[in-house]
Amino acid sequence: MKATDGPATEIIDHTQFLRDRFDQAAAYVPDLKAGLVEFFKVPARRLSVHFPVVMDDGSVRNFRGHRVLHSRVLGPGKGGIRYHPELSADEVVSLATLMTWKCAIVDVPFGGAKGGVECDPKALSEEELRRITRRFIMELGDNIGPYTDIPAPDMYTNDATMAWVFDTYDMLHPGESNRAVVTGKPIELGGSLGRRGATARGCLRAIERFIERGMFPDRDSLAGARIVIQGYGNVGAVLARLLSKSGATIIAVSDSAGGVLNESGIDLAAVTAHKRDGGSVVGTPNTQTISNDDIIGLPCDILIPAALGSVIRIDNVDLVNAKLIVEAANGPVTPQADTVLRENNIIVLPDILANAGGVAVSYFEWVQNLSHDSWPLELINKRLDDKMYKAVDLVCDKLDALRDAVPADEVPGIDLRLAALTVAIEKVAKVTLQRGIWP
Ligand code: NAD
Repeated sequence: MKATDGPATEIIDHTQFLRDRFDQAAAYVPDLKAGLVEFFKVPARRLSVHFPVVMDDGSVRNFRGHRVLHSRVLGPGKGGIRYHPELSADEVVSLATLMTWKCAIVDVPFGGAKGGVECDPKALSEEELRRITRRFIMELGDNIGPYTDIPAPDMYTNDATMAWVFDTYDMLHPGESNRAVVTGKPIELGGSLGRRGATARGCLRAIERFIERGMFPDRDSLAGARIVIQGYGNVGAVLARLLSKSGATIIAVSDSAGGVLNESGIDLAAVTAHKRDGGSVVGTPNTQTISNDDIIGLPCDILIPAALGSVIRIDNVDLVNAKLIVEAANGPVTPQADTVLRENNIIVLPDILANAGGVAVSYFEWVQNLSHDSWPLELINKRLDDKMYKAVDLVCDKLDALRDAVPADEVPGIDLRLAALTVAIEKVAKVTLQRGIWP
């Protein structure tokens, strides 16, 4: 389908997308019982809470929050808390499910979880956000805990939010060592060195390994690669810097207000300073302003969505002019767009692999907290790199194995997302059986 054929629409249902892709992958996992397939499709627990908060002007507003624990098979739940006006309970379910597979691929002993509050953080003061966080965590009560479900930062939450999460939980559980209840904390409160940049660093390592393995057509290093990044936050901004250090040229970046382009390469220090001073990348000197829709269609080697979900859809997928899409964000490609990308031979490094570095270092933080220790940055980075290389190898080996094993007409349907899911499902299924959860 060409974009000029007229506007196409798509009902975007990420929960269904994950289920469909899960079914596809599960078909390649030997001896997976039908009941087990159903068990993995439905979250173990989903909780929605509704609570009042006093605003700065004295008024009272009600907020809805969610926390979903998809699976406890590999260990306690692990997943971020995001604040966003369009957050829905279903979206939290699909994000929690993604976390289960991500934890399995990067080999950390956690199950998947996710949570968030339906709110517009940009329209709230810091004090209001603090009160919302405290009340949300009170409402969750013992549904979170160091050995049950461990939150972390996600969109529009950060180390300050995690400090409030810790403090609220700690007040409810005095006399206990509670630091391991949440990761992504400030360093002084038991946060880990390297956590802030971990997702970006993991993403970089995944891309490097992918290229090293000869999976990127016509390219054997990042040097000179032309890169477009949508989203200039915790993940996108750090990744831009790391990629640039590796010799790539970042030609465009964007945030919620729009994007900036310079075909000869963006001056990242100038973009960062402009965003810090003015709130957006838009207007950075020596750049041309472009929209977030246009950024998707820029000709480049690597397109990196690092902001919201569902930004590459059926109505804009034909504009994509990249050889590789790296899903730094969770769920940036919609189901129908995913199919079109596959048909157009555009490779997708899937979210459950590409952005798994964050949960890997969250795990390191949890281990440090439980052992009352703090590791040097070199050790953390080394362990992160090892985990990412191993994860990419597992997925690429699985891709090769699946393509070798299936009939020729099935080969085009086997992509990295399917291979990654197959690796994850095999692992979680194996542990489910070992634990005797399934008779
Ligand atoms: P963040 O809040 O720090 O940054 C988000 C960025 O996206 C901001 O620059 C914001 O302006 C931009 N943005 C928002 N709406 C946009 C839009 N419509 N178009 C373009 N840009 C837009 O969040 P983050 O922590 O960098 O997370 C980004 C993505 O990465 C999310 O999908 C998150 O789930 C995923 N992720 C984050 C981590 C982590 O460790 N932070 C780990 C795994 C996955």
